[in-house]
Amino acid sequence: MTKKTETKLEDLLYKNETVADVKPKAMKAADEFCEGYKKFLDNSKTEREATAYSEALLKKAGYTPFVPGKKLKAGDKIYKINRDKCVLAATIGKKELEKGFRLNIAHVDAPRLDLRPVPTYEEKGLAYFRTHYYGGVRKYQWPTIPLSLHGVLYRADGSKVELNIGEKEGDPVFCITDLLPHLSAKQNEQKLNEGITGENLNILIGSTPIPDKDVENRVKLNVLKLLNDAYGITERDFTCAEIEAVPAFKARDIGFDRAMIGSYGHDDRVDAYPALMAEIESKKPAYTSVCVLTDKEETGSDGVTGLNSMYTFHFLQQLCAAQGADAITAFQASKCLSADVTAAYDPSFADAFEPNNATYAGRGIAIYKYTGSRGKSSTNDASAELVSYLTRLMDKEGIVWQIGEMGKIDLGGGGTVAKYVANQDIETIDIGVPVLSMHSPYEVVAKSDVYMAYLTFKAFCADEA
Ligand code: MN
Ligand code: MN
Repeated sequence: MTKKTETKLEDLLYKNETVADVKPKAMKAADEFCEGYKKFLDNSKTEREATAYSEALLKKAGYTPFVPGKKLKAGDKIYKINRDKCVLAATIGKKELEKGFRLNIAHVDAPRLDLRPVPTYEEKGLAYFRTHYYGGVRKYQWPTIPLSLHGVLYRADGSKVELNIGEKEGDPVFCITDLLPHLSAKQNEQKLNEGITGENLNILIGSTPIPDKDVENRVKLNVLKLLNDAYGITERDFTCAEIEAVPAFKARDIGFDRAMIGSYGHDDRVDAYPALMAEIESKKPAYTSVCVLTDKEETGSDGVTGLNSMYTFHFLQQLCAAQGADAITAFQASKCLSADVTAAYDPSFADAFEPNNATYAGRGIAIYKYTGSRGKSSTNDASAELVSYLTRLMDKEGIVWQIGEMGKIDLGGGGTVAKYVANQDIETIDIGVPVLSMHSPYEVVAKSDVYMAYLTFKAFCADEA
């Protein structure tokens, strides 16, 4: 191979620069875009709430419920909700479906504390809910913060009750207690992951006994009485329920420059919201664009609302059937951005990262060619061809991107939904917004990265190549 012109020295190097340096004008646009994102965060503390909020946005944008068998034309916008917990939205493209879909997929479940089926108990005059943690949480981070309760219960007659306590101004909140430093000498000697155990994650819910002194568990009974008065529920109804305890904080700007956002649940609403916005703005695309906001990623994607089930692929197959298109051919021609957060390099814990292959908050949307652990086990390893396609698209659109890995080799690792999509014969690559304190009750992201994620989904939806 020969070259006609000499490459400039500075162009010999892979650059990993901040959005502020490369695209200073994007900073203001990012700030504006994130106002909508913060609203999404505050109204979407659970997968059910994220789904309901997204459905409202889709309806407002003119999406109509998907009807299997109904023929659609270019520009038509349809959506389907999977069991109140997942969103499927699509804009029909100009090309026939056999040319493939452009899929943007993110998840709307997040690490949290679920109530157990029989959660309520009393000890020494205090009433509690017992929890079972959902997803990868560092248990010591959950005591001594305000918690809110969200979810649904079914009464014995089958009627549904929706719960949301602790978000509104004036609502009570709940919390898990911890030992005082004066008495924590023994706890301090324990390993970080043993100081607070799953059995310690009990939520304080009351301290007043009912007046009747002749009954046992008077404080628990008082709580159940209050719940019965307010919602018409009994202890039995907690057995038919999904109640999630999540941090009661609101999304807030972080720093004097307001360039970051602190919030519960960035993982993975920080990709879900930009993907949804890009889908909503997708207008008569060349390829049919599809946005999927899924559940159950944090517990391994199993179950009927997880990406390891067929629900997404059934939707795509039904779309194909209605158009008289062959689904296998469509899948093979498709491309998917599997969007999930990446670890942001943390200078306070530099030991965990390999700086050349880390991803950084404020340096744009991150690509993970592969995830997994122990020798890339259990990962979709995107092809060089697909990375090349995506980086050329981003370069063409002036999108600031970076590429990296989770952290130092064999420190840990993680997975995403990418492999479940790729296993269906669909080319898939992981991208996402880097997060500081990932999976903690208060995660941090850079607004500029959120905006670059949005631009990426938009460019991918609109791409004609
Ligand atoms: Mn995630
Ligand atoms: Mn996660």
